Amino acid sequence: MKILYPDYCQRFSCLGGSCPDSCCKAWEICIDPDTVSFYHGVKGELGERLRSALAVDEDGDAYFPLVKGCCPFLDPDGLCEIHRSLGEAATSGVCRQFPYFIEEYEGFTEKCPSLSCPAAAELVLTEPLTEDVYPVPPGSPDPLLDLLARGRTAALAAAARYDFPESAARIRAMARDLQEIADDFDPGNVAYDFDAVLTDAAYADGAEEFARWLTELTERCLNFLRTDAEILTEEWRGLLETALTQPEPVAVLPTEQKAVERALRYFLYRCFLKPVNDGEVVLWTLFILLSVAVCVAVADRTGTDFRRIARLYSKEIEHDTENVEALLVFLSVEF
Ligand code: SF4
Repeated sequence: MKILYPDYCQRFSCLGGSCPDSCCKAWEICIDPDTVSFYHGVKGELGERLRSALAVDEDGDAYFPLVKGCCPFLDPDGLCEIHRSLGEAATSGVCRQFPYFIEEYEGFTEKCPSLSCPAAAELVLTEPLTEDVYPVPPGSPDPLLDLLARGRTAALAAAARYDFPESAARIRAMARDLQEIADDFDPGNVAYDFDAVLTDAAYADGAEEFARWLTELTERCLNFLRTDAEILTEEWRGLLETALTQPEPVAVLPTEQKAVERALRYFLYRCFLKPVNDGEVVLWTLFILLSVAVCVAVADRTGTDFRRIARLYSKEIEHDTENVEALLVFLSVEF
């Protein structure tokens, strides 16, 4: 199986004890069954603490409840006691996988570091990127996947060429076309000019109107996130509340546009192929665009660094399946 990952993965290095927002904070760590069995065999004082720290949630899954907002095995020096005492293999599967999202498709697997990790966010949003940073998957026997992969390549190029929201309008227009093709799918008859999304001015028609709609949608989404979504950290709650009481931007940093473009490319890479599971091309595209618009609105209205907001958004929304699903339902009502 071919495994694809953005080229910056090769430069990823965990910040360890100096991480400003460790993955061992705020999240309750799920412990997979094999690791639970292993912990039942660990001898001595650490084994007893491991077993007494385990709890079971309403779905019957084991996890470590937080202690003062952190994993109980996070040392004061910011390192993992289990890793240090028993080795990395003794940590739970989610800990070993983090910060990577792993998506398996027919014919290839994609591995992408999460924006929620400060070290990954630095690579995704700040460090220089090569033009082909996000790899193009090989042709797939699944025609819908093939269509989406080609669409994603075009969308990534549009995001790199045009400022948000023109890139958003172009990508949305292409997504509508792809939705029609997907709804009436004839694998032998896909004649779509993917380059047009980059070059054809007609794709930007209605960009202003779309920008207005996206701004209004973002306002409703901020309310939705504050009242209906699961909130992990008080910082995110406070930022949402400030953003909702401050409808005008208080700060637009000159460097932001580049980071916004890069966040858009990240979310495109992460989510544009997801309709292969449900056929919802437009819905997932709006999810991607709205994710970026929400980060921009919260950053601008609270005067907070966009990078910080994008990281928090990833931690609060992208990592929470229930929040992602809730946002998709919110969007399906809205458009
Ligand atoms: S969030 Fe990233 S950099 Fe920080 S401890 Fe976790 S993997 Fe390392």
